[in-house]
Amino acid sequence: MGVRACATAAAAGLFALALQGCGSAPASPISEATINDPTGLAIVAADSTPENWLSHGRGYDETRHSPLSQIDTSNVASLGLVWSHDLDTDRGQEATPLIVDGVIYTTSAWSKVQAFDGVSGKLLWQYDPEVPGATAASACCDVVNRGVAYWGGKLFVGTLDGRLVALDAATGKPVWSVATVEPGKNYTITGAPRVIRGRVIIGNGGAEFGVRGYVSAYDAEDGDQLWRFYTVPPLDGKADGAASDSALATMLATWPGERDPNMGGGGGTVWDSMSYDPDLDLLYIGVGNGSYWPRSLRAPDGGDTLFVSSIVALRPDSGEYVWHYQQTPGDQWDYTATAHMILADLAIDGKMRKVLMQAPKNGFFYVLDRTNGKLISAEPYTVVNWASKIDLKTGRPVINPEADYARTGKTWLSLPGPTGGHDWMPMAFNPATGLVYIPEQQAGFPYRLDPGFEPKPLGVNLGIDLGAMNLPDDKATRQAVRASVKGSLMAWDPVHKKKVWSVPHSGAWNGGVLSTAGGLVFQGDGEGLLSAYDASSGDRLWSYDLQTGIVAPPVTWARDGKQYVTIVAGWGGVFPLLGGDLAWGAKGPIPNRSRVLTFALDAKGALPKAQPIPARPLPDVDQFATPKLIALGQKAYDRTCVACHGSGAASGGIVPDLRYSPVLADKDTWQSVVADGLLAERGMVGFRENFSAEEIEGIRAYVIERSHVLRSRQ
Ligand code: CA
Repeated sequence: MGVRACATAAAAGLFALALQGCGSAPASPISEATINDPTGLAIVAADSTPENWLSHGRGYDETRHSPLSQIDTSNVASLGLVWSHDLDTDRGQEATPLIVDGVIYTTSAWSKVQAFDGVSGKLLWQYDPEVPGATAASACCDVVNRGVAYWGGKLFVGTLDGRLVALDAATGKPVWSVATVEPGKNYTITGAPRVIRGRVIIGNGGAEFGVRGYVSAYDAEDGDQLWRFYTVPPLDGKADGAASDSALATMLATWPGERDPNMGGGGGTVWDSMSYDPDLDLLYIGVGNGSYWPRSLRAPDGGDTLFVSSIVALRPDSGEYVWHYQQTPGDQWDYTATAHMILADLAIDGKMRKVLMQAPKNGFFYVLDRTNGKLISAEPYTVVNWASKIDLKTGRPVINPEADYARTGKTWLSLPGPTGGHDWMPMAFNPATGLVYIPEQQAGFPYRLDPGFEPKPLGVNLGIDLGAMNLPDDKATRQAVRASVKGSLMAWDPVHKKKVWSVPHSGAWNGGVLSTAGGLVFQGDGEGLLSAYDASSGDRLWSYDLQTGIVAPPVTWARDGKQYVTIVAGWGGVFPLLGGDLAWGAKGPIPNRSRVLTFALDAKGALPKAQPIPARPLPDVDQFATPKLIALGQKAYDRTCVACHGSGAASGGIVPDLRYSPVLADKDTWQSVVADGLLAERGMVGFRENFSAEEIEGIRAYVIERSHVLRSRQ
């Protein structure tokens, strides 16, 4: 890299702004050393160093398409395991590994960072930021992390408890660490940072806990905060003295009337996706759902509540607002616009257009003109019933009036639900086939207003009644609902706005995608198969059983002329937490066996034989409570506990299944776990502030009831 990369990029006459790094630094508060880093040039010109994977989506355009073609449709059947490394965490693994000159840098649950020799699989170092276990209670969707950023010999990781930590890539030793979130508020970080011209950009999550979203930039050299952009206005409507003041009037116009300070900070968290166009010098951020979910709670007088569920374009140097496009005005369904965003140049109606593509939770595939945010097309890529279409003139959805559950007061069974037609799992774009490969899913969800909603001090606060998810116990209904929950790998033509092929998966929750110039699409699924598909036909050409559910996306890289595929496997995320037994595979709960694996042609490695999950006896405990106390317990359970322990107290396999808990038999131990936080270090904090002692006893009674139902079913 270095001088040669500068010369190459200059010769191509491209990327004038990135080339500031090759000459004199512009006037800026940022350290000169970070401006002059060759990493950015290498990310911009990612296709000229395909042996590396330097940024989250490979290039800044986040296509997740690699020019490597040694592994192709003719030989992928001989792909084999080179090495695997078992991780020391057993929660969801969602990371995209980075590869720099043969070294793999990845993260695992609890924001731990690892470096491996990519060829041998030797663990070079591991960094543990020692996130307090209790932080799990502030995370909606598992204690996951989606990866590091690399810049000039340093790595950057956002930790679940809200720190941004810079590490020396050679040693794993911390260089600096900053708190990016206000203490005492339920912010978490699960997303990967991106670095643009020495600015480390990081957002956060927490809209299910009432926070106010923002994205910030820090100097890669020393961690100085450079700017912050709030994605929703402050409660008092006054300027923050932040970069987002440039858009404050735009935002405020869509939040009419007085806001109730007890109803949270508005949400709009930037918890995952970003992409960057160096020619336009625009940073695109995907903004999440409103907080709380029903609009009436956060904005009693209505309004679109910008920038909830929007894509916003900013100047990466200053955080200054440039444009926005809102997908779901006044969102009430957790329809985040945080899914992965891909930049490409497409010929549409005979004209080359610079587009941004996203398949967000709300079920429509959006193609925007990324120069100005104007909508080009938006067609449903999955089953959608909340809106009939997106009006191309106004750019707004034509919303089904019945979907406004806050207005009707009725239960609205929606497709998609809050897990989306596609969630965070990255899609990929192959410029040769012109297709986008989407991890699609269908999981309907009943939205019902919680009429007496008041935020609780701990755990999720949504404003809807999650008790609506409870299924009746009869077999026919349960089987029908299970059959309706499904997913697929889908090839989508963004120009002709249609599905070209799809491969069904047995469950809904399926993994991120990699596309390669070998004409292949790689993807893992919930049943544990990592597979390679023909990019043109969808034919499955190879698969390998990783013995655990897969949600993270694979990457590909090369060393000494040999191509490798690497993936971090490990079942988890929101679907197995909230979905209960709807997240199970055909054989029951899907195990978490967290590991990093690397594959190459003709490799002959093998995983150790998977030990079956030991069968557990249900506790022999009599029901002690009245129906009234059980009902009280169910209500409390559905208000808070359900978010991690699953609908109907059935665990999706990530946290303990309470129906099997021997603690059910012992009132005092139950109280010390649920009220006092006996297991806080494992993420189970004490919920004394949320519940009375009677409610906690009621939860025990409710779980005993569910345990008895399970026994009768067995
Ligand atoms: Ca959300």
